[in-house]
Amino acid sequence: MIVVIERNAPKEEIKKVEDKLKEWDYTFRRIDGTDNTVFGTIGQINYQHNYRALNNMPYVKEVIRISEPYKFAHRSFHPENTIIKIKDFIIGGEDLCVIAGPCAVEGRDEIHEIAGIVKSNGIHILRGGAYKPRTSPYSFQGLGEEGLKYMREAADKHNMLVVSEVLDMSLIGTMQKYCDIIQVGARNMHNFLLLKELGKTRTPILLKRGFAATYQDWLLAAEYILSEGNFNVILCERGIRTFENYTRNTLDIAAIPTIKKLSHLPILSDPSHGTGIRDKVSPMAKAAVAAGADGVMIEVHQNPEKAFSDGPQSLPPEEFTVLMLELKQIAGIVKRKINGEN
Ligand code: PEP
Ligand code: MN
Repeated sequence: MIVVIERNAPKEEIKKVEDKLKEWDYTFRRIDGTDNTVFGTIGQINYQHNYRALNNMPYVKEVIRISEPYKFAHRSFHPENTIIKIKDFIIGGEDLCVIAGPCAVEGRDEIHEIAGIVKSNGIHILRGGAYKPRTSPYSFQGLGEEGLKYMREAADKHNMLVVSEVLDMSLIGTMQKYCDIIQVGARNMHNFLLLKELGKTRTPILLKRGFAATYQDWLLAAEYILSEGNFNVILCERGIRTFENYTRNTLDIAAIPTIKKLSHLPILSDPSHGTGIRDKVSPMAKAAVAAGADGVMIEVHQNPEKAFSDGPQSLPPEEFTVLMLELKQIAGIVKRKINGEN
């Protein structure tokens, strides 16, 4: 249930509603929005009775039943867009969030060089895998903690944030030491124990969509994090498996307006993994922004032919620069900005 309190309700009256929820032993979250205070509750205890009782309390504007299984991720729980603030940067606001960097951190000099390149294109969030979830155990597995260290150094030099993927619960502490945002990859979207543990932290989580996850599966994965109290969740559409095998995955552009309607969480698009083909990355990044994405994640490499992983889908610096200029123009059309400009 979502309990929406009337605007300008006295604090004592809001507290009475909160006390009632406590008395009934509900798990609930309170959100003090700019317009209304809203309580989101989980649980069916004496549902009919409590639903009526809440409806009759003073200053309760409405009580909404959420029939979808995800509650905290549902837009009616938080009608405004969720905005996530990390240091001086905002995700989910008017400014688009662009995350860029290599698939994997390959060495100290390499990540320093790419950090400089993406920063010079106005990017504030550096990506790079240090623990790589490779399909084959014989492929490059990443530099581990050493890679995270190099990436942190490079990001600090340019005042950038760091996002990197966590592969396992045992690595959460290590990731927190070096990263501003922890990524959960497509392969781990269904790792519910990992999601729960990340829910106990307050570190922003970039939750990618699983290869075969429906919107509901994906939002329920987000719900695992939210229900533990971590509301800093950013969704990322990265393509799904379909019968089409020309592209690496099928990037689902319709996911963007759909998720925006169903949920308040910010949503990014990753056309690099979503297509797997370099010359398809920019068109799909532009399509994602035009469709209302809060940003994009792009793999960029100074020499894609020599990349340890995902070279065929990585943009060389010149192409990335062109893409950023084009994205700025599209941002203007959809009333968004990039670095405050369009
Ligand atoms: C990545 O972003 O490096 C990655 C492995 O992506 P995904 O989990 O979407 O395959
Ligand atoms: Mn990759």
